Amino acid sequence: MTDRPAPVAAVIGSPVGHSLSPVIHRAAFAAAGLDWSYVAFDVAAGRADEALAAMRVLGIAGYSVTTPHKEQVAAGVDELAESAAALDSVNTVVAGGDGRLIGHSTDGDGFVASLEAEGVGVTGLRIVVLGAGGAARSVVSALGRAGAADIAVVNRTPGRVGAIVALAGTAHAADDAATAVADATLVVNATSVGFGTDDIPLDPAWLRPEHLVADLVYHPLETALLRAAAAAGARTFDGLGMLIHQAALQQRLWTGNDPDVAAMRAAAERELARRAGEV
Ligand code: NAP
Repeated sequence: MTDRPAPVAAVIGSPVGHSLSPVIHRAAFAAAGLDWSYVAFDVAAGRADEALAAMRVLGIAGYSVTTPHKEQVAAGVDELAESAAALDSVNTVVAGGDGRLIGHSTDGDGFVASLEAEGVGVTGLRIVVLGAGGAARSVVSALGRAGAADIAVVNRTPGRVGAIVALAGTAHAADDAATAVADATLVVNATSVGFGTDDIPLDPAWLRPEHLVADLVYHPLETALLRAAAAAGARTFDGLGMLIHQAALQQRLWTGNDPDVAAMRAAAERELARRAGEV
């Protein structure tokens, strides 16, 4: 018997109302039979330091961190894990037993884990990453740490590519997008192209049956890129894989347990279907 209150974790962001994190994490706690609460706090831009102070005062066990707080939280925690230090960006805060707040970034490692869960190892793989925003940064950094042989980066604004290729020793700016796709086994869309639209971030004629095609966009779940890839005979990976596996890594950091990834994914799919029905 203990008189300590049941642990609380939360997502902080703004806006945060559409975050899938509460649904995914509550499913994980329920499946594990853990008496944890998970709530969403809309924290205005620039007020992440106060949210960290609240964490200490209220004894909150963990935060998921989303836009616009990832950089301010990285500057405000007591310690950064390797994943977050490389990016100067935090998507997970863990309150240590000694009261110290540790910042991690589970997005990129979650992407790698989502592929591994489907039997795809990235070690030695040739990869092309489309995009150079926050998602691409975390993915390139994690792919580099996981031993990808070659990571070609393509972005609409070429001037942003230099900062991202510095995150992994095997990353470089692609000379030409078509050649980079032809030379790669794994094609990753880390742009926002296709989010809520039928737009596609590359010429579908470049895709071959040998390609593995991953889209980080998960609204819609089956993007125009993934449809084109499937039509070309390529194997596809949707954006929910990364979302679920980055949350699974958060669960491990907070609780020390391996969560039920299938239950987390099923809950997210139900919620996405419910929202689609609302429109
Ligand atoms: P971001 O920082 O705003 O970066 C957006 C990227 O998309 C930039 O590289 C941008 O190029 C490119 N882009 C935007 N519009 C474009 C267009 N019309 N044509 C070509 N390129 C275009 O966004 P982010 O946070 O990296 O997120 C990117 C996507 O990943 C979003 O759809 C987000 O929902 C998704 N995401 C998924 C997960 C997951 O768990 N599955 C996690 C994080 C993000 P410029 O540099 O030229 O502007």
